[in-house]
Amino acid sequence: MTLDVEWARRWVALAAQAITEAKDELVELDREIGDGDHGVNLDRGFAAVAAKIEGMDRPATVGEILTTVATTLMSSVGGASGPLYGTAFLRAGKVSGLAELGPDAVVALLEGALEGITSRGRAGVGEKTMVDAWAPAVEAAVRSAGAGDEPAAVLRAAADAAADGARSTIPLVASKGRASYLGERSAGHMDPGARSSAILLDAAARAAA
Ligand code: ADP
Ligand code: MG
Ligand code: MG
Repeated sequence: MTLDVEWARRWVALAAQAITEAKDELVELDREIGDGDHGVNLDRGFAAVAAKIEGMDRPATVGEILTTVATTLMSSVGGASGPLYGTAFLRAGKVSGLAELGPDAVVALLEGALEGITSRGRAGVGEKTMVDAWAPAVEAAVRSAGAGDEPAAVLRAAADAAADGARSTIPLVASKGRASYLGERSAGHMDPGARSSAILLDAAARAAA
């Protein structure tokens, strides 16, 4: 089993739908420790992405789709998360310029995304950001692919680890981004970007299932 362009198209469609469904939740999370725009920013961005990808005339590769996702997010999301997700999808797209992805290519895609986020935002694990979802997701994907799993199972492992990672941000004190302005008062709330990252990875896994 490999993942192809149709998988990438399904991922985008499911991601846009899931972000719309989670819009209020993401706004609420960002209201607790930020400025309350994360759900609105991302919903606007992924609606633009979905329209763009639907209108694409026969994209040849997964990389082509991910690169279009990146440039669309960069021009439509804004805030901290626009450039972060934009760079994530840009790097993900670079490492997956294949027509079909096996388990190792899925790992490379996820590693590219994490690398894009950390090169842009300079956050490490435990700083209460989206890195706390992506880093364990990559670790889980590496383990799953190493154990001989199919791409769909690799993505499921990554998505589940991202969900755990998002929950793990609740007790943390933020040291990057807007939430860091709150200092100790940022503890007790889930990071909105970690939550949206888990949602995006869950959509990727569902698209492959
Ligand atoms: P803004 O804070 O500009 O309003 P958003 O609300 O769209 O932007 O996104 C906030 C999210 O961005 C945070 O929840 C966090 O996950 C992520 N974030 C902020 N700064 C960084 C960083 N330096 N590295 C990684 N992620 C970050
Ligand atoms: Mg915000
Ligand atoms: Mg903002």
